[in-house]
Amino acid sequence: MTKNIAIIRGDCIGPEIMAEAIGVLDAVAKKFGHTFKYTDAPMGGEAIDKFGDPLPGSSLDTCLSSDSVLLSAVGGPKWDNVPKEQRPERGLLRLRAGMGLYANLRPAKIFPELREASPLKAEITNKGIDFVIVRELIGGAYFGEHTTVQTGGELYAQDIMGYSEHEIERIARVAFETARKRRKCVCSVDKANVLDSSKLWRKTVCRVAEEYPDVQLSHMYVDNCAMQIVKDPSQFDVIVTENLFGDILSDEASMITGSIGTIPSSSLGEGTRGLYEPIHGSAPDIAGKNLADPVGMILSAAMMLRFSFDMAREADAIEAAVDAVLREGCRTADDMSAGCTQLGCREMGEAIRAHI
Ligand code: NAD
Repeated sequence: MTKNIAIIRGDCIGPEIMAEAIGVLDAVAKKFGHTFKYTDAPMGGEAIDKFGDPLPGSSLDTCLSSDSVLLSAVGGPKWDNVPKEQRPERGLLRLRAGMGLYANLRPAKIFPELREASPLKAEITNKGIDFVIVRELIGGAYFGEHTTVQTGGELYAQDIMGYSEHEIERIARVAFETARKRRKCVCSVDKANVLDSSKLWRKTVCRVAEEYPDVQLSHMYVDNCAMQIVKDPSQFDVIVTENLFGDILSDEASMITGSIGTIPSSSLGEGTRGLYEPIHGSAPDIAGKNLADPVGMILSAAMMLRFSFDMAREADAIEAAVDAVLREGCRTADDMSAGCTQLGCREMGEAIRAHI
């Protein structure tokens, strides 16, 4: 197969980790007989410097005409004081909107070798952690009307949290389809005992579930879910939830798996094109020092192969290579522990490539 991939190299550690992900993709292409064509789409600080715009039209066009988009991370102190509309993260928000990405998928998976890095007790992590949070990305309170008014001698503020049936239906489908590729269990998280938007959420998810009789559906209130994620995360396969709840739960979930440098994510809309990126930022404190952990970026490339290109064997090969390298005791500085061998970003990428 031939696939066109838009590449956003990003800022600070961005280009370093992206180079390793491309190296791994090239190794996969060679082994499985594919051709991956890469086109740069400058965004964030790099684009501000070159074009005076964090997302130039030409970059959005490149992303929209590609089969998928791979992004490292954007931003850094150099651009902290530019006007609000010019900030690097505005480029990211505009890209998500421009690509119509309404579903964010974040796996929470613990590598057995990195269990020590988890803040949870061994008796909990030994049961394994391997679930995905499917978060609705462009609805709910973040996108509702925000107002602040003076009333009765004081300020009053409100944010409208609204969902329409079609917004819930399409994210529920992403969750059920994701579960079909995994252990076939969906837990829908809401606050249906209090919120109308959650009541509609639950009713709509139940209706969509009828199209997926092979997937088991359960429901959980968000406050209980926050507890269960730290008490017994092994119970979850796919969690589906609205934007605000998903924002909070996905950060909680990433924390329990250990290092921020190892976690990938994907954002999807209609069709197969997606945006794949590690969950961390551009880590200016370690930029240019060959210290960055490229694993989250490399696993983002694996997610792209699995979800956008339907290349399950190829994605498995990357994930197995990461497992093997960690099993051999190779670590970057962020998750280094006693008895392991510390590698730089480039060397970690090379070690993973060697296992493809
Ligand atoms: P950060 O995630 O960049 O860094 C937090 C800490 O984690 C730092 O100590 C950093 O060294 C470490 N870290 C992060 N990724 C790592 C990796 N791959 N390997 C090893 N260590 C890693 O968060 P921050 O410091 O709050 O933000 C830095 C910049 O990144 C800011 O300009 C912020 O706006 C931007 N940012 C961008 C995105 C994005 O592009 N999606 C997301 C978050 C933050």
